[in-house]
Amino acid sequence: MTTIVDRPTGHAATDAEVTTGFRTCPLCEAGCGLEVTVRDGEVVRIRGDRADVFSHGYICPKGSTLKQIHDDPDRLRSPLVRRNGVLEPATWDEAFSEVDRRLRPIIGEHGPDAVAIYLGNPNAHNLAGMLYGKPLIKALGTTNVFSASTVDQRPKEVAAALMFGHLMTVPVPDIDRTGYLLVLGANPLESNGSLATAPDWPGRLKSLRARGGRLVVVDPRRTKTAEAADEHVAIRPGTDPYLLAAMVNTLAGDDAIALGRLAPYVDRLEDLVAAVAPFTPEAVESVTGVPAATIRRLAGELRAAPAGCVYGRIGTTTAPFGTVASWLVDALNTVTGNLDRPGGAMFPRAAAGHFNTRGTPRFGRGALIGRRTSRVRGLPESFGELPAVCLAEEIETPGDGQVRALIVLAGNPVLSLPNGERLDRAMAGLDFMVSVDIYLNETSRHADVVLPPPSALQRSHYDIALLMFALHNVANYSAPVLPLEPGDIDEWEILARLALIAAGVGPAADPDLVTDLAARTLLHAAVADDHGPVAGRDVDELFDELAGRRGPEKLLDLMLRTGPYGDGFGARPAGLTLAALEANPHGVDLGALEPRLPDCLRTPTGTIDLAPEAILADIPRLAAGMHDGPADGELVLVGRRDLRSNNSWMHNVKVLVKGKPRCTLHVHPDDAARLGLVDGAPATVTARTGRVVAPVHVTDAVRRGVVSLPHGWGHDLPGMRLGVAADHAGVNSNLLADDERIDAVTGTAAFTGLPVEVAPASG
Ligand code: SF4
Repeated sequence: MTTIVDRPTGHAATDAEVTTGFRTCPLCEAGCGLEVTVRDGEVVRIRGDRADVFSHGYICPKGSTLKQIHDDPDRLRSPLVRRNGVLEPATWDEAFSEVDRRLRPIIGEHGPDAVAIYLGNPNAHNLAGMLYGKPLIKALGTTNVFSASTVDQRPKEVAAALMFGHLMTVPVPDIDRTGYLLVLGANPLESNGSLATAPDWPGRLKSLRARGGRLVVVDPRRTKTAEAADEHVAIRPGTDPYLLAAMVNTLAGDDAIALGRLAPYVDRLEDLVAAVAPFTPEAVESVTGVPAATIRRLAGELRAAPAGCVYGRIGTTTAPFGTVASWLVDALNTVTGNLDRPGGAMFPRAAAGHFNTRGTPRFGRGALIGRRTSRVRGLPESFGELPAVCLAEEIETPGDGQVRALIVLAGNPVLSLPNGERLDRAMAGLDFMVSVDIYLNETSRHADVVLPPPSALQRSHYDIALLMFALHNVANYSAPVLPLEPGDIDEWEILARLALIAAGVGPAADPDLVTDLAARTLLHAAVADDHGPVAGRDVDELFDELAGRRGPEKLLDLMLRTGPYGDGFGARPAGLTLAALEANPHGVDLGALEPRLPDCLRTPTGTIDLAPEAILADIPRLAAGMHDGPADGELVLVGRRDLRSNNSWMHNVKVLVKGKPRCTLHVHPDDAARLGLVDGAPATVTARTGRVVAPVHVTDAVRRGVVSLPHGWGHDLPGMRLGVAADHAGVNSNLLADDERIDAVTGTAAFTGLPVEVAPASG
């Protein structure tokens, strides 16, 4: 007989049980609750958790595929070590010994900068990645730190840090209460939202329109979101900052700037107005392709809306003026009185780890950027990282500080970074490489040691980073749904043991040392915070209270308890603890977003800087291109998202890749006719760094002069173990993306609007 047991904390099933576990989906930023049914140790069903306080049962087609990923025969179950040129299965002890044997001499001989680390996007969705990545970087002592942030959202973070004082103090669109939403370069109906965490964007945008609100999408493509909007403005790729500057200019010219209650906390409005003065709607008409009258109308509509907001994402950040565009999005939110008010752009209050809930309200040290530059090209550091576009040259270029070894955590930079072919070649020349990855993919195939973490269903979860961008304040912890396999080790232990090796303590040292050191560091900071709930308390006493916990749970409990809703280790008995979250497997609702200014600022002045110097320095470059319309026959490349795809790593899930090939080149009918391109036939796309051949899809969903290829494909390299993906290989759009084309302020890759040539492919 089968026993039905509802086990919210998700303990492993016995042979005679069906259990139900609840798990936040870690696959994208939406953070949907999943209900996972396990029979005899096997997942038999995953569906949306209807009781989840945030997602209420919503999931997208990817959510249920955690089962397929867990069961995937290509998923690595044991470490691999390269012997005589071949990656062979090894024990964990053998694998860590090999890392110690190979890594330590490189550090000893060439110094810590000889080892680079790259953190892929999944780390932001991963409790262990969030908590143990930093200790590993610290233990390595390297300045060669790279991540997917600089091929994605870094301009937004830098703009936020310069304006509001911290990279995670990013205003999010309050889409559930807004009356007017202006979206630029984002396609949340395919991406499920980004830097704006919320499940069910389709339902939320539908509600916006149902209550009489207006949705306007600015994008070179008629995306799914644009199709669902009241208005689609088909802008030329990469020119959003011109449009945004012209909107601010319009408001200033109409004497329509309204700071509202924020006026006492806003600095340098006059410098903002002066900076956008040249960018009149008429002046930017030809560069943007948007009529001046439309720009004026959009500015007026936004200003007149009872509550409106502007939301810009990937198309605005991965562009040559990514930071300028990100700044102008929030400058526009501010000057229309929409910053920090319900229905506008608001600041979430996360339960754990949010810097802007600690320390002195309003005041802080501000943005930590540009403190050093990269060795070869001299690109600026931001928040302790160098731009990822520098990675290949730092490996290739001899001299002091040359990168000779690389650790990749949950990343596939060969597919994710521009000029992927160059990086692929560079990696082949490394002295030593470690990948922490569940797959042998385009990047990990170069590794000398591959350390596979357990599948997502075997790991605990809490979205430390993404809940800082949540459109509703919630906290949701998930215990593992499935147990580890005998002999396996958890992901946090992998990272902790790497940190211990890097620190010279050796491969056999106790990983709990890393947790305890991190916990004590956090506690010292918490007791030193005069405004926090444990100010002045004894660190040892608090540390002892965490004694029943290990690993990420110990750190998470500490962060929750010292956070803004926390129990303060007894100071606020009804407050949040990890135990409280464990008792609420569908999450805890912490309420709608509330105004947080000025207290959430952490700038040196305690005010919002509306005209940061580091960004103004890029305005002359912007002005220089102000009158540049499209050249005759111009073709530029943009990317695109797909609901069933997630960057590079989910193409081995058959149910997500089946059907018509999706890695196709979208071309406008007029361009297709001009170039002799035929729907379904192959075309060659050529850029400075490379060339790909992709099937053409003729569609008027792209602007004339624009072609579109999705990223994350190109699974046709030797030495990988991704059987399904190889059958649906597609092409790597990042063979075309140029590693020299960047946002000047942050060094972030400028994928959007890349000039290309397209021709019918012979044969
Ligand atoms: S929308 Fe994102 S979080 Fe939700 S089920 Fe899909 S992939 Fe998972």
